[in-house]
Amino acid sequence: MPASPDTDRTPLVGRTRDEIVALAVELGEPPFRGRQLHDAVYRRRVLDPAAMTDLPKALREKLAADFPVTETAIRTVFRSQDGTRRYLLTLADGETIESVFIPVASRDTICISSQVGCAVGCTFCMTAKVTVRRQMTASEIASQVLVVLNDVYGPGGEIPHGTNVVYMGMGEPFLNYDEVMKSVRLLASPEGMNVSHRRMTVSTSGIVPRIMDFGLESVRPELAVSLTAPVDSLRDELIPINRKYPIADLMEACRSFPLGPRERLTFEYVMLDGVNDSDAMARLVAGLLGGMRAKVNLIPHNPAPELPYAASPMDRIESFQRALVGRGVDAYIRRPRGRDISAACGQLAARPNAQA
Ligand code: SAH
Ligand code: SF4
Repeated sequence: MPASPDTDRTPLVGRTRDEIVALAVELGEPPFRGRQLHDAVYRRRVLDPAAMTDLPKALREKLAADFPVTETAIRTVFRSQDGTRRYLLTLADGETIESVFIPVASRDTICISSQVGCAVGCTFCMTAKVTVRRQMTASEIASQVLVVLNDVYGPGGEIPHGTNVVYMGMGEPFLNYDEVMKSVRLLASPEGMNVSHRRMTVSTSGIVPRIMDFGLESVRPELAVSLTAPVDSLRDELIPINRKYPIADLMEACRSFPLGPRERLTFEYVMLDGVNDSDAMARLVAGLLGGMRAKVNLIPHNPAPELPYAASPMDRIESFQRALVGRGVDAYIRRPRGRDISAACGQLAARPNAQA
């Protein structure tokens, strides 16, 4: 049973348009006030109810007292030389998470977190080192996009081009499936932020049953799967969830995944020096992905003192790429962004004082 608006503490970001209209009615306003409020929150990104001057003063006061727009606040912004910004955000209970804004000439990408920390424990990832762990709510997940766009373009500021949202920050999205999917629907809502689901990507370490659920969703982002090793013995070690969902099961779920007409799967492969980057490994990857509508993103490992790996040299990554392409598998090398501010893949650990 849904909680009544009086006791439901969900911030406005996190509520659907119907729920916001219902709230306005509960507060004694006509439904159109609810639609105005929804517009102010999701379209104009007004975070302070006092600034919603198209609403009656009494409503603004009630909102200010009891219904925050979001409880997610910027703690620190780190700016990279390449334009990337890393955000350290504080949640209502004081936990911190990270989001990353990555500008490209034609569009922006916002990389968001789905959990505080991550229990999967990949041995090459800094997020695995975060000791505090909890799920994030849909409100917290969606708030990241709002707060970041607000910082970059200002409240109500025109967004010059499309926004991509990638669930590739802290956490394993498919171990927080329901809240992640709720956040997808909030971000995709055409009356709200209107981020097309085709411009969103969820990246998973390979939670097989949830991959199958995801395939059945009507509003569904693109799927990226972190492969990183083509044999179970190595993948067990690097991505421990592989012991539960081994490569054969993962590949079966991927092969039967219902792709749209022009859609393909993405496989991410973190290049670890001397561990998984030989041409022989590339041939095994090609063997797994042969015949699949898929591409591979080769991600140079972003090292950290706490991690026991080094990045593969670029000529090795290029050779690995050639071995895949030569076997008919599309492969791209992902250029690291924001490395100087620890904003690159696998570097997110929400350490308040870490500059690099
Ligand atoms: N938990 C999800 C999504 C977040 S991680 C997943 O694992 O897919 C996003 C991507 O960053 C994954 O592809 C992961 O393999 C990669 N990654 C993790 N640590 C990394 C590191 N140190 N260097 C480069 N990529 C890393
Ligand atoms: Fe979690 Fe992904 Fe990092 Fe693995 S790579 S520990 S699944 S965030």
